Amino acid sequence: MKAEDSLSFSDCIPAEKGFFHFFGTRQNPASLINKVQVGQVTPVPPDYPYVISLKQIHGRDVVVFDEPIDVDSSMTYEGDALVTTQPNVLLVVRTADCVPVLVADIERQVIGAVHAGWRGAVAGIVLETLAVLTQRHGAKKEHLRVVIGPSIGSCCFEVDDPVIRPIKERFSFWPDVLKPTSSTHAKVNLKGLVFHQLLQAGISSSAIRQSDDCTQCDANRYFSYRREGRVNGTMLSGIMMKF
Ligand SMILES: [Zn+2]
Repeated sequence: MKAEDSLSFSDCIPAEKGFFHFFGTRQNPASLINKVQVGQVTPVPPDYPYVISLKQIHGRDVVVFDEPIDVDSSMTYEGDALVTTQPNVLLVVRTADCVPVLVADIERQVIGAVHAGWRGAVAGIVLETLAVLTQRHGAKKEHLRVVIGPSIGSCCFEVDDPVIRPIKERFSFWPDVLKPTSSTHAKVNLKGLVFHQLLQAGISSSAIRQSDDCTQCDANRYFSYRREGRVNGTMLSGIMMKF
């Protein structure tokens, strides 16, 4: 994979411990583009023995793969987060302004990938994923590492009451992520909304890294639903354990 195809934070999720992750760009990882099938388990050897991608529905459902992978093309997997305990399985999320979040317990064999738009972030998809990792798979909060990828930035994400109200209602930290621009509108820091929820859940800020990139501002590097006014393309982000 060429450097310009993607970015990663290997200082946070360590490659030397067998964890591989990336946040794709418009170029995506070239080895994956056109191979990921939405809602399916797809064999893409040799780089990725299995690739799993969800039919994303802006909700809070976490889909778990905790047994050896079975490719069943009659199945369609729906949800906005993936968790696996299985090695050599690439968990993929697709975004074009929403926030891709990748997480690993670096002392245990369990990882997750989350697609968090504002609806999912407000609904709690990231915390739901942490709950699955810790309660169902024994991940320890102090061993979790979280990387937050490129998304629309607060520079570009101006919203009105239907978005502002639930954020104010649900999150005491809302003044940190919501900056009023008029009596009816505000700019939202979507990555901040994820970051502050992680802090509230007990993840240390030193265990979290985030991209500063705004998908709407950087047209050369990223697709943006808001800038382009339609789904012109999506970035792929993924995480896998190679043991
Ligand atoms: Zn921007």
